[in-house]
Amino acid sequence: MRILITGGAGFLGSHLADHFLGHGHKVIVMDNLITGCLDNIAHLFPNPDFSFIKADVTNFIHVPGRLDAVMHFASPASPIDYALLPIPTLKVGALGTHKALGLAKDKKAVFMLASTSEVYGDPLVNPQPETYWGNVNPIGPRGVYDEAKRFAEAMTMAYHRYHRMPVRIVRIFNTYGPRMRRHDGRAVPNFITQALKGRPLTVYGDGSQTRSLCYVSDLVRGISGLLESEITTPVNIGNPHELTIKEVARTIIRLTASRSRIVFKPLPTDDPQVRRPDIRNARTKLGWKPEVGLEEGLRRTIAYFQGTPVPPAS
Ligand code: UDP
Repeated sequence: MRILITGGAGFLGSHLADHFLGHGHKVIVMDNLITGCLDNIAHLFPNPDFSFIKADVTNFIHVPGRLDAVMHFASPASPIDYALLPIPTLKVGALGTHKALGLAKDKKAVFMLASTSEVYGDPLVNPQPETYWGNVNPIGPRGVYDEAKRFAEAMTMAYHRYHRMPVRIVRIFNTYGPRMRRHDGRAVPNFITQALKGRPLTVYGDGSQTRSLCYVSDLVRGISGLLESEITTPVNIGNPHELTIKEVARTIIRLTASRSRIVFKPLPTDDPQVRRPDIRNARTKLGWKPEVGLEEGLRRTIAYFQGTPVPPAS
C-alpha cells in the first residue's frame, strides 16, 4: 500500500510510519510540526519508501500519485495542548478531517480516523463500549478536542454513507511509550520526568481517578488490524487494565528507584473520573488484545526518557 499519515511526525503517527514501512509499504508523512517533531522521523529520511510533506491539513492538501490509505492522525493530543491551541485543535478535527476525507475520496483510498476515548467525555458507564454515546461538556476547556473528534466521527460516517467510502474509526484510549514529549503534560511523561529528576510527582485531584494505559506497540498492532479489516463503525483500542492515577505515580517512583514524593495539585476542569475500554469488539472481530504489561511498557518508556534509542518497530 501507499499510505498517507497526517500527523505522522507525532508520537503515534511516527510509530505507525515505522510499522508500515517495516511491513513493506510506502509511507508519506504530512505534518505541520506544531506538536509533531522531525526528530521522531529523522531515521526514516534515507528510506526510499518514505517521504515527508510539511503541510497543514486544515488547508487544501495535494499529494501526487496513487494512495491506498489515508490515516488522519494529526491533532494536538494532550490537555495542555488543547488549552494552548484550542482553535487549531478544533480546526484539525473539523476542517482537517474534511480535507483528508476529500483527498481519500479523490484517490479512492481507505480513510482511517484517529478518534479517541474523549468522545465518551466523563463517562457515566464503565467500561465504555462503542455503543455508549458519552457525557461531554461541549463548552469546557476539553470540549475543543472532544467535540472536534465527535464532529470528525460524524463527518467520517457521512462520507461513508453518502459517498460509500471505505472508512475505519479507531477510538484510542490513553497510550504511552517512547517519543512522547518530555513536556507533553500528560501523566506518564510528567511522572517519569519528575521521578528521574527527583522532583515531586504532581498528582491532580486526590489521584483516585482512573485511566487504562496501553503501550504504543500494542496500539499500533490494533490499528493495523483495524485498517486491514472491513469494520466501518468505531472500534475501541486500548488496554482494559484500569488503575488509579495515584497507582501509576507510585509504580513510576518504584520503577525509577526515585526518592521523589507525590504532591497533590488541583484537578483540571472536566477531568474524567474513570476510563476503561470495553475491547470485546477488538478481541472478537480483530483477534486483538494488548500484550505488553504496564511494568514492561513503563520500563521501556523510562529507558527512552533516559536516552535509550527507540527499538525498531515490530
Ligand atoms: N495527571 C496528573 N498529573 C499530571 C498529569 C496528569 O495527575 O502531571 C492526571 C490527569 O488529571 C488525569 C490523568 O492524570 O486525571 C491522565 O491525564 P493525561 O493528561 O495523561 O490524559 P487524559 O486526561 O487525557 O486521559
